[in-house]
Amino acid sequence: MKGDNPPIRTCVVCGIKEPKSEMIRFVLENGVCIDENHTKHGRGAYVCKSVKCRETRINYKRLERSLLKFAKGRNRKTG
Ligand SMILES: [Zn+2]
Repeated sequence: MKGDNPPIRTCVVCGIKEPKSEMIRFVLENGVCIDENHTKHGRGAYVCKSVKCRETRINYKRLERSLLKFAKGRNRKTG
């Protein structure tokens, strides 16, 4: 059997795992912004396309925290 293994990403809202292509990507760029084509550089967070999670993405605080967590580990500042 030929396995075509798409990259799997985890929804930061509900935790479901879906192929990357099925997810909406967000990046941290002067705040959280949507990365429609998955082309922006930097650490991304993924949200699945379920209505619930799509609406929850308005909850940028959560996304931002998730993204900042990664940024922090890389670039530690005082405070
Ligand atoms: Zn989700």
